[in-house]
Amino acid sequence: MTAVSLNFRFAPSPNGLLHLGHAYSALTTFEMARALGGTFLLRIEDIDVTRSRVAFVDAIKNDLAWLGMTWPEPVLVQSQRFAAYRQAARHLQDLGVLYPCAATRTEIQAIAAANNAGSDPDGAPLYPGRGHVISNLENNERIKAGQSHALRLDMSRAIEIASQILQGKPVQFSEIEDNGNIKRCTAAPQRWGDVVIVRKDVPTSYHLAVVVDDAHQGISHVTRGHDLFFATDIQRLLQVLLELPEPIYHHHALILDNTGKKLSKSNDATALQFLRNSGKSADEIKDVIKNARKRR
Ligand code: GLU
Repeated sequence: MTAVSLNFRFAPSPNGLLHLGHAYSALTTFEMARALGGTFLLRIEDIDVTRSRVAFVDAIKNDLAWLGMTWPEPVLVQSQRFAAYRQAARHLQDLGVLYPCAATRTEIQAIAAANNAGSDPDGAPLYPGRGHVISNLENNERIKAGQSHALRLDMSRAIEIASQILQGKPVQFSEIEDNGNIKRCTAAPQRWGDVVIVRKDVPTSYHLAVVVDDAHQGISHVTRGHDLFFATDIQRLLQVLLELPEPIYHHHALILDNTGKKLSKSNDATALQFLRNSGKSADEIKDVIKNARKRR
């Protein structure tokens, strides 16, 4: 029998300091990896090159090490992987599921508001499909004139092709629940509009980079916050289309701030660096995290 290697990852974006919510996510991942005899990997998700800072990468590493975590070096840095993302995007283009879109953010927002179209689960205005924001003719003119454009997923076509690949079975994933039970879930990519797969400014998007790298790093378990639960719809769909392996998922509860909202930005009260500098020990932080109010 061949041994299966179990790989876990913590994948922060280096555009700010880690806060208690990140620490909870990293520790959940680290502890699950240790309990199952797997490897904890750190991955730097810096495709947003204008917002990412090397200083934050260093701060992330210092904070994780201070909390007692270790990982193999060198860590994977997404801004060095653009060639791999381009190749995956070409694969999707060959399947006929991507189309170029030169509509501006303002135009998309205006149409979504006028049509009461709602938004994607991540809050972006729902993109209603080719030709619905600007005409196909206008789109082609802009692209011919050299205006920058994104590549969007033709969602209904993508779902159709995935269904062909799966011989009529739905796109599914396995979710580890808090009690350790594993539940089989059906992904619902149709709740998303035609999402961006290749952005205007970089040759990838969050979803594409994640599935390419989870496969590249042999990630067996994706552990992350419940705010990314619906991202699994898109990511599983892409994995099917790109014929990539299926990881197991665990979406953990989120630490709430004083007002009952999910922690978003780091401030003096929540950033690990500030807490450390104010004399808190790593064990004290772990206690704070354990006792913090959380919700899915
Ligand atoms: N880079 C993402 C974030 O910082 C996490 C991606 C993931 O875990 O899939 O929110």
